[in-house]
Amino acid sequence: MTMLFEPQPVVTAVTSDGHEYPVRRIFCIGRNYAAHAREMGRDPDREPPFFFTKWAETLVPTGTTIAYPPETSNFHYEAELVVAMGKGGRNIAASDALSHVYGYATGLDMTRRDLQLEARDKGRPWDTGKNVEQSCPIGLLHPASEVGHPDSGHITLTVNGEMKQNADLNELIWDVPDVIAYVSRFYELAPGDLIYSGTPAGVGPVVPGDEIVVSIAGLSDCVTKIGAPAE
Ligand code: MN
Repeated sequence: MTMLFEPQPVVTAVTSDGHEYPVRRIFCIGRNYAAHAREMGRDPDREPPFFFTKWAETLVPTGTTIAYPPETSNFHYEAELVVAMGKGGRNIAASDALSHVYGYATGLDMTRRDLQLEARDKGRPWDTGKNVEQSCPIGLLHPASEVGHPDSGHITLTVNGEMKQNADLNELIWDVPDVIAYVSRFYELAPGDLIYSGTPAGVGPVVPGDEIVVSIAGLSDCVTKIGAPAE
């Protein structure tokens, strides 16, 4: 049999030592910093973790100019620590979770905030708010063998050089082992799965021409420019 048309190429993240990490799925944790939960109008003390997913094809490398997406007038940045799985599993114990990690990167969970909040408030799915084309910029992926397992240190985001988000990884409500354990209760995790671990307070809008830089202690920056609206 012949393939009816060329399949899409495999999406990859580039590692700091010059390899390509093939990406399978993207899981994103919501409201994982207390101050951000509060700015979204939620009480961080009373909610269990939750997550949503994005297509692998939403991933773009650092240095990309992404098109301002259609159907929004409130396109937001969210700086996040990205966890890349190196070993899969179901019901992974938090105490064993770090041994399943390949490495870490800086990343952005770009969001149509107007559509996400409307969906949230109407009890509808978040897909159009979150699963946005080009909405997952990622920096170089650093192997844990190089950088260890960061659980503290700064996570910051600037827009055109102005500080917008400034927090510490030790403020995560559910830390990396907890997050891996939680997601693996619902899905059998596999190598190639990325987990965007949530964003601190200070989210806000960008417009075409803006440049976003995400920095995390020990990792390389993720730089993203906002381009003209998608055609
Ligand atoms: Mn997020």
